Amino acid sequence: MTNYPANAILVLVETTPAGELAKPTAELIGAASTVGVPVALLLSPTGVDLSAQVAGLGATSVLIAEEAVLGGLSRNAVDALAAAVSVVQPDAVLASHSVSSRDIVARFAVRSGSAVSVDAVGLSRDDLGVVAEHSVYGGAYNATSSATFGAPIITLRQGSVDARAVQAPLVAAPLQFVAGDKPAARVDSFEAETTQSSRPELRGAAKVVSGGRGLGSKEQFVLVEQLADALGAAVGASRAAVDAGYVPQSHQVGQTGVSVSPQLYVALGISGAIQHRAGMQTAKTIVAINKDADCPIFEVADFGVVGDLFQIVPKLISLLEEK
Ligand code: FAD
Repeated sequence: MTNYPANAILVLVETTPAGELAKPTAELIGAASTVGVPVALLLSPTGVDLSAQVAGLGATSVLIAEEAVLGGLSRNAVDALAAAVSVVQPDAVLASHSVSSRDIVARFAVRSGSAVSVDAVGLSRDDLGVVAEHSVYGGAYNATSSATFGAPIITLRQGSVDARAVQAPLVAAPLQFVAGDKPAARVDSFEAETTQSSRPELRGAAKVVSGGRGLGSKEQFVLVEQLADALGAAVGASRAAVDAGYVPQSHQVGQTGVSVSPQLYVALGISGAIQHRAGMQTAKTIVAINKDADCPIFEVADFGVVGDLFQIVPKLISLLEEK
């Protein structure tokens, strides 16, 4: 039987419907390595062995729960997580802040009576154990949370941690667990729905170009998409732009939309209301273009351009395309 390190951090590793590791995997294992020894629970597609990739990202042990047993049900993934926690006895469980990971860890927390810290943007350690760092009240304050009992479960905001772990030797084993021993509603069919786009996905993108009400219309919002394409960035939007019908709600950045922490965030015609800043303030570099020099977006921008975006952005696009 494998002996797990006393300071193990159990990382929940998800896979995509295409059978690849979920995007935040390297970041989760990297973050875990800053506060302990990463051990992975891989929710694995059947017949595809991704354990070497997970070890390559720095997990010192990989426990494998196959999709054939999980059946696409978070309830069964909770059974796997419970079994992994019982054998690894980690100092903390770390998962992505994705919808599916949150579903799994929240169910596990209720079942196990564990403390949960959501949407962390960093990790540290103190005498009590692993501490989660949060950006709260629209990024106006940084807060920390830690559990006074048991191993905390922490969900990590994608793109917020730069740390990467070093490759570990491959130690992988199938996880022994009984799936579905708890009563639950019957599921007759399960289908994953994916949207195809040539642009990066907003959540987890390294670069994001967002547009606000200042774009003026759906037709003129195309300028945001053109700059995004010139930069290889994802497209975001303020709620005002979404409410005006310029783009679908899935593009909304902010308190009631997606939280992003890209390397570069470009805000075009966005005033920078606190609810918008809540979703983008942890970006590494923020560039804002706005004709109002007093608007709040400039309080958080690293680079600000005061002017008419319809004059500036086309020039920016042609400069980028010339490169
Ligand atoms: P505006 O505030 O109208 O700003 C438009 C900006 O465009 C102005 O600063 C203007 O100077 C500039 N502009 C206009 N024309 C030009 C031009 N030609 N060139 C350059 N600049 C120009 N908002 C979100 O974004 N995300 C959320 O998740 C969110 N959640 C919310 C939740 C709650 C409970 C509430 C109450 C509000 C929420 N909001 C959210 C709404 C938020 O308060 C703001 O209303 C919204 O962010 C404003 O969007 P905006 O900056 O695009 O529009």
